[in-house]
Amino acid sequence: MALTAPETRRRHPGRGGKGRRGDRGRRVEPAARAEIAALLGDRPRRRDMLIEYLHLVQDRYGGLSKAHLAALAETMRLSQTEVYEVATFYAHFDVDAPFSGITVRVCDSVTCASAGNAALLDARLPGARVLAAPCMGRCAAAPAAVVGRNAIDRATPEAVAAAVRAGATAPEIPAAEGLAAYRAAGGYETLRACRAGERSRDSVFGAVEASGLRGLGGAGFPAARKWRFVAAEPAPRFMAVNADEGEPGAFKDRWVLETAPHRFLEGMFIAAWAVEAAEIYIYLRDEYPAAREILLAGLAALRAAGLDGGAAVHLRRGAGAYICGEETALLESLEGKRGLPRHRPPFPAQAGLFGRPTLIHNVETLFWLRPILEYGGEAFAARGANGGKGLRAWSVSGRVREPGVKIAPAGVSARELIESHCGGMAPGHVFKAWLPGGASGGLLPARLADLPLDFGALDDHGCFVGAGAVVVLSDRDSVRDIVRNLMRFFEDESCGQCTPCRVGTEKARALMDREVWDAPLLRELSAAMADASICGLGQAAPNPLLCALRHFPEELRA
Ligand code: SF4
Repeated sequence: MALTAPETRRRHPGRGGKGRRGDRGRRVEPAARAEIAALLGDRPRRRDMLIEYLHLVQDRYGGLSKAHLAALAETMRLSQTEVYEVATFYAHFDVDAPFSGITVRVCDSVTCASAGNAALLDARLPGARVLAAPCMGRCAAAPAAVVGRNAIDRATPEAVAAAVRAGATAPEIPAAEGLAAYRAAGGYETLRACRAGERSRDSVFGAVEASGLRGLGGAGFPAARKWRFVAAEPAPRFMAVNADEGEPGAFKDRWVLETAPHRFLEGMFIAAWAVEAAEIYIYLRDEYPAAREILLAGLAALRAAGLDGGAAVHLRRGAGAYICGEETALLESLEGKRGLPRHRPPFPAQAGLFGRPTLIHNVETLFWLRPILEYGGEAFAARGANGGKGLRAWSVSGRVREPGVKIAPAGVSARELIESHCGGMAPGHVFKAWLPGGASGGLLPARLADLPLDFGALDDHGCFVGAGAVVVLSDRDSVRDIVRNLMRFFEDESCGQCTPCRVGTEKARALMDREVWDAPLLRELSAAMADASICGLGQAAPNPLLCALRHFPEELRA
C-alpha cells in the first residue's frame, strides 16, 4: 500500500505565528459594510458569535474577503487583527481567496489512504478544486470524499465527478429516530422524572457512579466525579457538549447523532439538570452537516412539544480544527476565538466557558445515561468484560470484513471485535497491526490483540484506547507509511502555541521522510514532545512512532 503525500495539504496561516500580515487599519468599504449589516441583521454582535458569523459570510459569498472581514470587525467592535487571526486559524475558512466553484475534500487519514484515496486526490474536475482533508468520520466506508457538503462513501473518481457535474453539494440527511418514535419507546420519561422531582439528584449521581461511566471522548475521566466537581461550584454553571469528533478512525459520535439524536439529547438534558446548568452549548464539527440538520430538527420538535424545559441550547458549528476536540480549545472556540488549549489549572469545572464552572461531556457519554438510569448503574457496569465497566460504541475500520460502529463491552479485545463483531478480516488480508485509539493512541502488533480495550489497560505498551477508534491493519499495509501519515496529521493540526509540538511534529515528520530513520534522535525528540507540550496533541503525537520503533523496527530500517 502506498499512502499519499498530497501537494494539496492544508496549511493554517493563522496557527503558530506563521500567518501572513493583514493590512492594519484597513478602511471599511461602504459596500462591504452594507453587505455585512444586511447579512447579520439584528443578530447580537457578541464576540462568541464570531465563528458563526464567519460561516454566515463564507456561505453567502464563497469565502472571506478582506473587505468583509474589516466590516465584520467594525460591527462586532473587534480589531481587524483579531478577526483575521480567528478566520485564518480554521481550515474551512477561505480567507482572501474566495472560490466560486465546488470544493471537493478527500480524506487523507490512514483508513482512507489504505483504502485507496490517491485516485481521488489526483482527480481533475472542471469547476471544482480538490483538497486533502483530515478524517471526516466516515472510515467505515473508506475512501471518503465530500463534494461541497455532500459526503460520498466508498468514493470513486467517477462518483465524485458525477456529483460535481450535477452540482449535488447538499448533505444527504439520514433517517434518524424521530421524537414520536423515541417517546413511544419510553423516551424522555427519565428526564421528566428527574425534572418532576421523582428522582433525586443524589440517586442519579449514585447510579452514574455505580455504572463506572467515564468520559468517552478520550480522556476517560469518571463522569459522576466530574458532575460533583461542577455542582459544587457557584452558579451560574454551563454545560458544553463536545461533538467535535476529529480523531482519525472515530465515527461513533456521528453514528449516535445520525441514528439516535433524542437519546443523546435526553442524556444531555439530564446531565444539565444534574449540575443545574443555566445554558447548554453543543460544539459540532463542521464535517457533520447532516447531524446538524438532525439536531436542529430534534431541538425544534422538543421545543414544540414543550419538552426542552425552557433550557437555552446553542448549537455551534466548528470550522475544521482537530485541536478543538481538546476540551479547553473547544471552550476557546465557543467563545469565538482561535482554538488554543488553555493551561490548567483552573480546570473547566472551576472556570470554563466564559469563566464559569462548566460541565463538558462527549456525545457518547451522554448517549449511555438513559439506560444507566433506567436499568441501574450496577446493571450497566456488569455489561463490561475483562475488568471493564459497561458498554461502549467502538468505531472499527480498516481491513475487516464488516467495519462500523460496534456496541461491545468496555474491556473487549481487538481480536474479539474483529472476529465476533466485524466478521473477521477482509478477504485476502492477514491481520498485522492495529491502532487502539485512533491517531494518538499508539500502534500494536497483532500478537497483542488479546489485550482488554479499556482505560489504563494499554499503558504498559505506550498506548491508550481514547475515543475507541480501532483501526485494523493488514499485511498489505506499510507501518512506515501509516506512522508517517499520522505524524503529518499532527504536524498539520498542531495549533502552534507551544514549541515542542509545533516544531517537534515538523522535525519528526522530516526525519521520518528519510530512507533510514535515526531512531535515537527520534526517541529524544519524542521525549521532548511528550514531556513539554501543553496539551494531549503534542504529548501523544509520538505514540505511533514510538510503537513502530518498538514493534516493527525491521520495516523502518531504524
Ligand atoms: Fe497546540 Fe500542540 Fe501545544 Fe497542544 S501541544 S497547545 S496542539 S502546539
